[in-house]
Amino acid sequence: MDTFSHALWGYGLFGIRKYPKFAALMGAMPDLISFGALMLTRVIDGTYRWGKPALASLPDWIYPAYTVGHSFVIAFAVIGLVAIWRKDIAFAMLGWPFHITLDFPFHSLEYFPTPMLWPLSDYKIDGIPWSNWYIWLPNVAGIILLLAYRQRQKRKRLNGL
Ligand SMILES: [Zn+2]
Repeated sequence: MDTFSHALWGYGLFGIRKYPKFAALMGAMPDLISFGALMLTRVIDGTYRWGKPALASLPDWIYPAYTVGHSFVIAFAVIGLVAIWRKDIAFAMLGWPFHITLDFPFHSLEYFPTPMLWPLSDYKIDGIPWSNWYIWLPNVAGIILLLAYRQRQKRKRLNGL
């Protein structure tokens, strides 16, 4: 899914009680450390172009950055360690594995399939790209419903006081 959708899902699902900005950041993090970092370097050196970068134009470092961010194994290992120390922070980090859950059925083998089990396995799914309207529009509808529901809950909580 696009990075902004990921941030909103992270915020809506896991940033309810505490750390809303951090939850949004963790939802988007796997893309920020890979494509976000690439965009930043290209903006800085003046070579940034709008749209999906061509595979041949990508630097080598983007692959390990993408792999580490898009692995359930890494995500749950890190979150598990954080949970020993702070459960509330670990909860806000769950947007990270949710990001992977949204990516693996919606990336094809042609363009960054999700290495969800790395380093245990190289298994990847040939999914349907999220850029198809029939994937992306339900995604946006889901976000709108989730945020509307959260807003209602918040209002109820405030009225209850
Ligand atoms: Zn992603």
